[in-house]
Formats: sequence, structure tokens, C-alpha cells
Amino acid sequence: MADSYDFRSIERAWQERWERDGIYRTRDEDPRPKYYTMEMLPYPSGDLHVGHAKNYTLGDAIARMMRMLGYNVLHPMGWDAFGLPAENAAIQRGIDPATWTASNIENMRRQIRLMGTSYDWTREIASCLPEYYRWNQWLFLRLYEAGLAYKREAPVNWCPHDQTVLANEQVIDGRCWRCGHMVERRNLSQWFLKITDYAERLLNELDRMDGWPERTRTAQRNWIGRSEGVEFGWSIDGLDAQVILFTTRIDTVYGATFLAIAPEHPVVEHIKTIVSREQASAIERFADSLRSKSELERTSLMEKEGVFTGAYAINPFSHERVPIWVTNYVLAEYGTGAVGGVPAHDERDFAFAKKYALPIVQVIVPPGEEVTGPLETPYCEDGRLIASDDYSGMSSSRARIALAERVAAMGIGQTKVNYRFRDWLVSRQRYWGTPIPIVYCERCGEIPVPDEDLPILLPADVPITGEGSPLARDPAFINTTCPKCGEPARRESDTMDTFFESSWYYLRYLDPRNTHLPWDVSIAKHWMNVDQYIGGAEHTVLHLLYSRFFYKFFHDKGWVGGRDEPFERLFHQGMVLYHNEKMSKSRGNVIGIDETADTNGVDAMRLFLLYVTPPEDTSNWTDEGINGRVRFLNRVWRACEPHLAAARAISPRTLPPMDTPQARALVRAVHVVAKSGVDEVSSRRFHFNTTIAKLDELVNAMTTFPETNAPAYLYAVHALPLLIAPYAPHIAEELWSRLGHAESVHLERVLEPDDAALTVDEITLVVQVNGKIRARIAATPGIGEAEAIGLALRDSNVRSHLDGKEIRKQVYVPDKLVNLVVG
Ligand SMILES: [Zn+2]
Ligand SMILES: [Zn+2]
Repeated sequence: MADSYDFRSIERAWQERWERDGIYRTRDEDPRPKYYTMEMLPYPSGDLHVGHAKNYTLGDAIARMMRMLGYNVLHPMGWDAFGLPAENAAIQRGIDPATWTASNIENMRRQIRLMGTSYDWTREIASCLPEYYRWNQWLFLRLYEAGLAYKREAPVNWCPHDQTVLANEQVIDGRCWRCGHMVERRNLSQWFLKITDYAERLLNELDRMDGWPERTRTAQRNWIGRSEGVEFGWSIDGLDAQVILFTTRIDTVYGATFLAIAPEHPVVEHIKTIVSREQASAIERFADSLRSKSELERTSLMEKEGVFTGAYAINPFSHERVPIWVTNYVLAEYGTGAVGGVPAHDERDFAFAKKYALPIVQVIVPPGEEVTGPLETPYCEDGRLIASDDYSGMSSSRARIALAERVAAMGIGQTKVNYRFRDWLVSRQRYWGTPIPIVYCERCGEIPVPDEDLPILLPADVPITGEGSPLARDPAFINTTCPKCGEPARRESDTMDTFFESSWYYLRYLDPRNTHLPWDVSIAKHWMNVDQYIGGAEHTVLHLLYSRFFYKFFHDKGWVGGRDEPFERLFHQGMVLYHNEKMSKSRGNVIGIDETADTNGVDAMRLFLLYVTPPEDTSNWTDEGINGRVRFLNRVWRACEPHLAAARAISPRTLPPMDTPQARALVRAVHVVAKSGVDEVSSRRFHFNTTIAKLDELVNAMTTFPETNAPAYLYAVHALPLLIAPYAPHIAEELWSRLGHAESVHLERVLEPDDAALTVDEITLVVQVNGKIRARIAATPGIGEAEAIGLALRDSNVRSHLDGKEIRKQVYVPDKLVNLVVG
């Protein structure tokens, strides 16, 4: 009899066998109900560690449970394979990005297989291959035809380190999301996708997406940033021009004492023609000083500054002339690029007015109060209007309606909904991405590449230096002929943001080898939406927002059916730390997959990752913890292996005779595990940590069971592989096969939790710490002293009262009380 479980030979052997037999292959025509579950596709950076394994293990446990519950499960995997690291490897080490990416994919595919994951590898995709990115180009052309892809010059975020522009979503606290460098601003002509056309739908649907974490929905709401207000024109004194303002607080309009505009605002050029030369050059110097400053610097980091232009605007309500200032904190791309400065009722305007000695005029008072003197601080709440002509005395909310009506009646503007987020900038000045399928012809202008000319291949052997756009310097790529007139023309040299690829890849998995279309509509209608999506919370306003936008477009085109949302349910897994620190190569604290598989085994790793905390929490990798799971698997092995031959005759599908209290307790323990596993997936909580804790209790009960040839014991032996299969698939398969089954345990049905087995008497154990009651815990009658104390010590309230102190004395009154004395 083998005393310890030889995971090294067993795990690899089963992985090869599963692969050979194709047991995880999914067929579209399978009559069972479909279940589409996936994890966010990884970037092939090279090497995986146990932190990555947490995500895949969780997704795999869900896929396996759903298969065992009778669903036709689709669980695919692929590679988000374009992007900067490959190009940086080329710059630093002279490796071809394609070669670098391919070898990383190969290694990571091997590691993901090594984790015992149940993917259908026949559907694997890699976004850097022409067979995939061809459809990026095709989709880009459809967006272009729909007017949703356009090129314009705009101030954009520029990462000086990565030498490329970035989308707003890729600037985190003013820094590049990838390399952490401060972002600069540049005026460049770039390709944008008109995500703002979908603002209202993207926002409204969030209310109905109850399968998503609330914090993710809130983050998207805030990012979209809807506000209702009034947009109206102010004329400029001495100039036949208007400045359009947007405000959500038109009730404060009589308090506007200056007009703040962005130095990039087009009207500034006109203003410069009517003011003195000194003033014009002061405006220019100020604009120059801000040219490369990022949005964050201007809106939060820098002190609020400005320059008086010398021109005045006319407040259309008070008819007062107010000075026009160019300021650093108003941005041309937000709202209309101009705001009325109301120092009495806005923090920023207040600080600005103090600094430049501009008048502060209070026009709102708190309800029930009168003006008592100059304001010490701005009053920013709603209240009652004063000094506002006919509107004086009105409440803020009433005045907002009345003033908006007046704006419309005067014909100077209208109410408007404004969104904070802007169109998605998708141009990148880098090599390793999808070429944008546009040609520029002197005669015909901007011409989309015809579908039959796709894919526009990314050329090989392009020198990559990290300076400028590699494709722009490649004459063989750039020079082409115009698809319309046949004259010499020039290709677009920008490539696409890699988030373009990941916005629709979940559809390509459904039909990965289609050479006529990105996917077949009827197949998409069968499989979509994704029932469960698992991935990190860091993609909240990037991938998860972009995918929703794409999917709504696809839905409008009739290319998908059902609801116009791609991901029905979303789950964010927590990180894995080591000694409370993030694992990273530079810290040298990475726990690798290969070494863990070799030292502890894959099943132990999977069990530990699922067991240590609920999956959404951050967990800590500890040697003690992983060793505990290795010991657990050895206990499973010792409890089952010697009895497999005898257990063959006892079916796990029929309850055994339960003629003793111990037999009842053991059979109950089996069904407690069965129920927990099913509950965790049907509730979508996925707290398999509690299921695995119950598996611990089951194995404890087996270990102390008096009669190993009793039917109840052999029943537990036969049931155990079914119970443990989703979490520790290798040992489950080995035991199942040794029980004489020819078919894989992973194609079996779950063990249905049986009410008759579950409804046995339960007792309540009272747990005291130093004589005070700290917990009441449910247990099985006849529970032994060691198990009872073990249960008590696992209770979090009891643990907190023990406070890590040594237990000096323990008292056990059978089936009633545990008292722990600490000092
Ligand atoms: Zn960067
Ligand atoms: Zn032409």
C-alpha cells in the first residue's frame, strides 16, 4: 500500500490522457443547456506564478462544477498577444516580437495545462496572428462605415517613455498605465472610436446588470460621468463671436464674475486680434507653458493659474461685462472648453478669484438664512436665490428650470446632457499591433481598404528602435496604390490599441476558424451571452467598458442576439501575496507554477488557492498553507486507496444503510460537501473555501470511522472522487479509475445532495473563552473532543478572543460545551 500519494507521476499522466481523449472539447450541437464561462485572456508575458493560477483555478472549478451539473460548458483560452512588451524585448534584446510572443505563448500554454485546467484548446486564439487581426481590420471598417471610427486632430495623452499616445482610460493618476511615466499632452491627428454615441445606453443598462459587482458598475457610471445642465452662448464685447458655456448650476448665473476658458479654445485666436500686443503675447506664453502638461497636472496638481485676455464677455442674464481669462484648469476637450467663474459658489473659482482679486458675488443663500457679510468660504450647496432679478427668492431647483426655459426662449441655448468620458483613442504609433486599414490618396483622400484586400499584414523584419513609428519608416509597407483610383498612395502607419482585439475575442472563440466572417451569427446567437466572466478589477473602465460598447454595436448590426450586453455575470478574483507583498520578479518573491507543481503537486496548489480565502479576497501564499493541503491529499489517499477494491460494489448513487450514529454522521458529512459545492455555484458566490473546509471534515470523519468495511465507509470512499473532482481533478480521476470506472470522473454527474442524508440531528456546541460564550456552532452528535475543539478554533469570533494567546486548559462536555482557558 502506498502511504503517500505519488502526485508527480499521476498528475502528468492524467493531463496527457485528458488531452488525448479530448474530454473538454465542446460541441455546438450538444443538446444540454449551454454555459459559457471564461477568464480574461492573458497577455503572454512569459512566465506564470501562483497568483495567476488563482484566477484559472477558480474558473476551472466553476467550469468543472457546471459540467457535472449537466451543462454543455464552453471554457476557452487564448492570448492577448499584441502590445508593447514584445516590442520592448525587441528594442532591448534584439528579439523579433513575433518570435518572443510565440515562445512565451508556448511556455504559458504549457503552464496553464500543467495546472490541470479543463480548456477546450481546439478554440485557442492569439490576437497577433493574421487569421485573428484580419477581423480587427474588418470590424474597424464596419465601425468606419457606421461613422463610429474617425480621425481628427486633438490634444492627446502622450507617453514619452513608450513613444505612443494613450487612451484616457489608460492614464491612471496622470501616469501611463503600462510604464508609470508622467503623461504629456500633444496635438496629434489620431483615430478615435465614437464610444460617446453609446453613452446613454452604456450608462442606463448598468442599472440592470445585477450580475456585476456594484463597485464595478459604480466605477463605470462615474467614468461615463453624466451631468444635466444648460449650454448657452455668451457674446464677446467688440467681437462678432460667442463663447458657449456648459453649466449644471445655472441657478448661480448672476454670480458669474469672470469667464474662464481653455488657452486652446478656438475663440482665443479671435480674441488675440482685438487686444493689445502685450496681452496677446502673454496669452501665447501662458498657452506655451501648458502645452505638454497632462490633464491631471492641469486639473489637480498645478496651482490654479490664468492670464487676463483683455477681452470681456457679456453675461446674458445680468448683462454685466465680465473679464475673460485663459486658465490652466479649463480643458478644451471637456464640456465646451469654457466655464462661467462663480467664486461665491464654487471651490475652484473661489480660490482663483482670491488669487487674482476678482469680485465675489453671493447669489445663493442657505435656506432660511440671510446674507451676513462677505463669504469666508464658497457656499456650494443648493439654497435660495438673491440678487438675481426676477429669480430672486426661488429655490435653486426651481430657478434651474426657470432659467433653462428662459435660455431656450431667448434662443441662446438649450438644456443638455453632458458626459465626462470622451471618444476612445485607438491609434498607436507602435509596431506590434493591428495595422489600421486606411489608405491616403492625394486625389481621393482617406480611403478604407476593401474587404478583399484584408488582412493588411504587419511586415516582418522592421527595425524597431523605440523612436517614432516603425511602420512609418518602412517604405515597403507605407507605399501602396489607391484602391479607388490606382494612383500611388500611402498607408496609415498607426496600429490599433490592443484593447480593440480584446473587445470582441469572446465571439471569436465561438467560431475560431471561420475564414469568411469574424463569427457566424447563428453560433453567436446560440452561445452568447457569456454566462460567467472572471478577471481582475483593474479593467473596470478599459476592457469592460470597451467590450460593452462593441457588443452594443454588434447587437445593432444584428450580429448577436439576446441582450445587448456581452457578460451576464462578472467576478473579480483577489490577488495572491507572498508575505503580504505583491509577487514580482524584481522583488524576487515569485512562487512559480513549475516549482510548485513539482514540489507540492498541482492538486495541492489548486486546493490551497481555493481554500485559503473566499476567491474575491486577497490571499497570502504560505509554505504552511500549501503543506497543509499536501498532507490533506495524503490523508485522502490513505483513507481511500486501501479500500477501493471493496468500494467498487457500493454505488455512490444509492444511500447506504445508516444503522449506527457514526454511519449516519459519515453519510451526512458526504452530503454536506455535495450540497456546499452545488450551493456555491448556483448562488454564484464561488466560496469553494467553505466546500473544501467541509471536505476536511469529511476526511476527518473517515479517518476516525471505526469500521472500514462498513457500507457507509465504502460509500464515502466511492463518493469522494465525485466530491473532490472540481477542485483536485487528478487525485479524483486516479481514485475513480481505480474504482473500476472506464469513463472520466469529469464527465460524471455531481453527487446530488440528499435531504434524507442531510436531515440528521444536529447539536449545538457552546464555545466559551475564559467562561464567556463566544460562539454556538453546529456539529454532529457524538463528535469527538479533538474535532469539537478543532471546530471551535476555526470560528472567527473565538479566534479573535483567543487573540493568539496560549490555551492553558480546555474542557469538553460531550455534545454540549467547549471551554477554552487562555492566559
Ligand atoms: Zn508608458
Ligand atoms: Zn485615389
